[in-house]
Amino acid sequence: MSEKTVVMPPEEIARQKGFLLECAELLKSRFGDGHTLLALVHSYGCQQNTSDGEKLMGMLAEMGFGFTETPADADLILYNTCAVRENAEVKVFGNVGELSHLKRARPEILIGLCGCMMQQKHIAEKIKKSYPQVDFVFGTHSLPKFPEILKDTLQNQKRVFQVEESDGVLAEGIPVHRTPGVKASLPIMYGCNNFCTYCVVPLVRGRERSRQPEDVLKEAREIADAGFKEITLLGQNVNSYGNDLNGGLRFPELLRKVNDVPGDFWIRFLSSHPKDCTKELIDTIADCEKVCNHIYLPVQSGSNRVLKLMNRNYTVEWYKELIAYARERIPGVMFTTDLIVGFPGETEEDFMQTLALVNEVKFASLFTFIYSKREGTRAAQMEDPVPKEEKSRWFSMLLDAQRKIGADYYKGYVGQTFRVLCDGKSPLGLAGRTEFNAVIDFPGEEPLIGRFLQVEVTSADKHNLTGEIRAVE
Ligand code: SAM
Ligand code: SF4
Repeated sequence: MSEKTVVMPPEEIARQKGFLLECAELLKSRFGDGHTLLALVHSYGCQQNTSDGEKLMGMLAEMGFGFTETPADADLILYNTCAVRENAEVKVFGNVGELSHLKRARPEILIGLCGCMMQQKHIAEKIKKSYPQVDFVFGTHSLPKFPEILKDTLQNQKRVFQVEESDGVLAEGIPVHRTPGVKASLPIMYGCNNFCTYCVVPLVRGRERSRQPEDVLKEAREIADAGFKEITLLGQNVNSYGNDLNGGLRFPELLRKVNDVPGDFWIRFLSSHPKDCTKELIDTIADCEKVCNHIYLPVQSGSNRVLKLMNRNYTVEWYKELIAYARERIPGVMFTTDLIVGFPGETEEDFMQTLALVNEVKFASLFTFIYSKREGTRAAQMEDPVPKEEKSRWFSMLLDAQRKIGADYYKGYVGQTFRVLCDGKSPLGLAGRTEFNAVIDFPGEEPLIGRFLQVEVTSADKHNLTGEIRAVE
């Protein structure tokens, strides 16, 4: 492990566990012994945040909390925030604003904010000044110290604000409350070293820290033993897994080891940065039967000029070569990507190159975003002359192109049979997802949820696939 990766010592983890018990006692005196404690934890944004939310819920469960999704029923409300785009922040401010009437009606309830937005000092300050209903605030780096932060809030009966400046720590042994269902996420690393010029993540989540492979594998076994049917390995760039583990495993080797964990489950991973995506990784996906033949490979732009301004460190040609190699090695492989429209200085010609890439690669799906200016990033200093309306027009063109590609794919699926993980109900009975995340609705009974099925697609319209079960595995 590199000298820079700071691991939280076991004594500190044990100290925080002690605070969990203290919190349980303090909560009894605040709400009364015998009161059924309920918490609402809402995570905004990416799967990494949702995964952090599961740790926060794990700690709360050990303090005696059950969970609710209704703010009016909750004794503690914790919003785990996202800072990637401005609209996520606007949503948080709106939702926190709405809590003021609950706090007035029941002053004893606890309201907390954490996550990426709170790691930014100017935001934490704004909350302190203008949102008196908030009892405690902590940034991403303080997550393992949540028990202590809550204990201080309860004990001192005053507001606590903790935003640590740090490159981040690696903390093992925090309890996890996984949302019941068929899918589980498994963080393999935290932080990001890439500093794409538009992105706030490296500023709020610190430097890359890889978990030890044995910790990842232990958790993978626990997830498989608990009956989950899909494991998503998480990191901002999983392809740099192990860079900070001196001489340790790299991502393709880790993937093979997770594939060897006994059980019938699918493996997915995100995100995979094209600059570090290797032929070895593609070969590994081809070899590992549990790894889905679906690669999430965010390209961001189809223009080399814009990619350079974004500091992405690859070219469109490199990206297309990866796609071609994967298509040769993995029959039927599908791709999903992220695209940013309207990066500062992007011209219509640059945008047309993005559109051309989308039409050429034919992704299974796209996550498309209009560029959002983020304080502290390099792109925030760049000239951004293109009006909003023009960016929206480009954005609509991209969505139209993808709608057509999606509809063509869907038409072609009719008559084909896919392996599907049944993951919930639908108006037809059940719903399931293919390896490449297309949703199929089909008739069937609830006990099949969580099973792998062979489903034939019998009809398709632009947005929906309908099918019939052909076999239960
Ligand atoms: N680490 C991942 C990667 O490099 O692919 C991405 C993580 S980021 C949370 C998810 C996506 O948000 C990015 O791929 C990018 O498309 C988008 N994004 C990040 N910053 C953005 C910004 N300032 N404006 C618009 N979209 C942004
Ligand atoms: Fe952001 Fe780039 Fe890191 Fe992804 S790789 S989190 S887009 S800086």
